[in-house]
Amino acid sequence: MNLKIAKALEIVKIIEDAGGKAHVVGGAVRDTLLGRPIEDVDLATSFTPEEVSKVFSKVIPIGIDHGTVLVRYESESYEVTTYRTEEGYNDYRHPDQVEFVRSVEQDLARRDFTINAMALDANEQIIDPYGGREDLEKRLIRAVGHAKDRFSEDPLRMMRALRFSSQLGFCLDKSTYEAISHQVSLLSKISIERIAVEFEKLCKGQDYQVMLLRLKELKVHHYLPVFKENLDQIKVIPSVRLHGFSELIPFYCVKGSPYEIAEWIKAWKQSNQVKRNASIIFEAVRSYEHKPLPVVIYAVPSHLIDSFVNVLQAADVTIDHSSVQKAYDKLPIHSRKQLDFQAEDLMQQYPSLPKGPWIGEYLNKIEQAVVIELIPNENQAIKEWIKTWSPPETD
Ligand code: ATP
Ligand code: MG
Repeated sequence: MNLKIAKALEIVKIIEDAGGKAHVVGGAVRDTLLGRPIEDVDLATSFTPEEVSKVFSKVIPIGIDHGTVLVRYESESYEVTTYRTEEGYNDYRHPDQVEFVRSVEQDLARRDFTINAMALDANEQIIDPYGGREDLEKRLIRAVGHAKDRFSEDPLRMMRALRFSSQLGFCLDKSTYEAISHQVSLLSKISIERIAVEFEKLCKGQDYQVMLLRLKELKVHHYLPVFKENLDQIKVIPSVRLHGFSELIPFYCVKGSPYEIAEWIKAWKQSNQVKRNASIIFEAVRSYEHKPLPVVIYAVPSHLIDSFVNVLQAADVTIDHSSVQKAYDKLPIHSRKQLDFQAEDLMQQYPSLPKGPWIGEYLNKIEQAVVIELIPNENQAIKEWIKTWSPPETD
């Protein structure tokens, strides 16, 4: 058995020894049955958060209203949620009422898809009231209960259906597909932040190309920021999977999106960090056509090199990760700080000149020359090289 699941079942047993009931639920059960790697293991229990807190020494309340606590156990964290039902979704966001219940079967009924509505008990038996295992075999995403009702309760589930299809390479069950097609407009009730999370996961999934086509067919893009104002944008499909908005935004901008990076960021409510990364990648991809590779990648921080290559590949440029990484490792310098010639050296060389923008411009030129190995990164050599230039203009 998977080690992570085995550890989680120890928690289940501790709760049961204390008189409660508990199960591993949701994605971890699904991914175990599929033999996929497991991210986090979620647990559900008959115990209330207070009761859970009495059993474990380290418990962090993270969503007490929804019955969720984080249990620290042998250096790992587990979300432990009291069995609950949800009723009324009048704001399309949060259930109006969360009611704690005593059985795991009742808890499974509130879950979105049959493959996500299975539980594993202490004896490693699977509780599967909605045919999740059968759907795993048929490779189907099927809503628990009536798809139409489940999607009108929480329209985000429509996006989730597409993202699980993409991640797992599964088909949408017919009635689930039809339910999306009939009430896709309810997506307008959902916060952009929640939609963004699912859209990123969809684009990262193995079957993203099929699911982007499906998304278009179902008119989901009519409710996605930027896409809804530029309906043809959805026809532009990346050639490789892209990981998050730092890659997606430069990709669409390179492919001629009428929206600029700042507009994408605002519309999708992304952070300043995503904005910075997207801008760096965009500039690098754009300059790739007319600048030498070392100059292009010198401007990219090492943690964005893979993203830079991804976006180029997505835009049909033939390039591979390892050759770019090699070129990056081979750069004579990786930042201006490593240049063996600084502003002071420049001022010494031209003692009569006042400080001014010329210093930055000169350092820039030197930096670029070192990066393309026109001159070595050696103080003396740089000094000699500068002597061949006409003196700087300062006015
Ligand atoms: P991942 O590996 O992507 O985290 P996951 O199945 O764990 O997949 P989560 O979004 O973490 O997905 O949700 C955990 C579980 O909670 C799901 O498996 C599902 O049972 C339930 N769930 C989450 N969101 C919803 C929702 N909007 N409606 C109904 N059930 C949901
Ligand atoms: Mg999860």
